[in-house]
Amino acid sequence: MSDVLLDVRSLSKRFGGVVALRSIDLTQYSGETLGMIGPNGSGKTTFVNCITGHLKPNSGSVGFSGRAITARKPFELARVGLTRTYQAVRIFGELTVAENIAIAMVDAVDPVSPERYAELADWLRIAHRFQTQAGSLSLDEQRRLELMMRLVQQPKLIMLDEPVGGLSSSEVRAMIALLAELKAHSTIFIIEHTMKVIRELADKVVVLLAGEKLAEGAPAEILADQRVIDRYLGG
Ligand code: ADP
Repeated sequence: MSDVLLDVRSLSKRFGGVVALRSIDLTQYSGETLGMIGPNGSGKTTFVNCITGHLKPNSGSVGFSGRAITARKPFELARVGLTRTYQAVRIFGELTVAENIAIAMVDAVDPVSPERYAELADWLRIAHRFQTQAGSLSLDEQRRLELMMRLVQQPKLIMLDEPVGGLSSSEVRAMIALLAELKAHSTIFIIEHTMKVIRELADKVVVLLAGEKLAEGAPAEILADQRVIDRYLGG
C-alpha cells in the first residue's frame, strides 16, 4: 500500500449556529484519486477550505505528507506541496497567460524545468495563447490556465473544486481526458457534481450529507449504494 498523503481527523467547522462539518475523518493515499460528492450545502467547499487554509476549523487535525498542517496559511501549504483550484477560476484577468504562469513560477519552491513547462503548455493546449489577456479566454481555457499555474509548482496534492463546472459536454469530455492523464502521475482530490467525472476518475468516493460523511468506497459501490441514491442521487 502506498503512503498516506492526506490524513484528516475529526474535522469540524461551524458558522455561528450552522454546523458545516461534523467530525469528518478522511484518508487519501499518495497516487489515489479521491472524489468528494454531496448535495449543495453539504460542506464540500468548506472541507477543502479547511484543508487548504482558507478557513480555520473549530476542531480536528489535518496531516499532510507526515506533518501537521492544521490551520496553516495557503501560501505555507503551497510550499509543502498542497494546492488547489477554485470553483470560480482565480487568475489575473488583466495579465497575459504567460504573465499568469510566470507569477505561479515565481511562487514555486521547486518550479518545473523549461522543458516540462513547454510540455505542460502543449498538453493543456494553451501554448498558442501565451500573449492573450487571460480575462479574454473562454472558461474552458481559463480552467486549463489555472491548472497550468498549479502544475508548474509540482504539487504533491492538487485539490480541484468542480473542475468541469460551467463547461460544455465536449469540453467536459476533454477535461476528463486531461485529468485521466494527470492522474497517472499526480494525486488528485476532486469535488464534482458531474457523476461522469467521478465514475471515470475517482479511485475512492466520499459522500457528504449535511456536514457528515454518509458513505465512502469505490465509485461503483457508492453509485449503487441505496442510501446515496435515496439521499443524493435522487433515485
Ligand atoms: P457545498 O460546497 O457542499 O455546496 P458548503 O461548504 O459551501 O457546501 O456549505 C456548507 C454549509 O455551510 C452550508 O449550510 C452553507 O450555507 C454554510 N456556509 C458555507 N460557508 C459559509 C460562510 N462563509 N458563512 C456562513 N455559512 C457558510
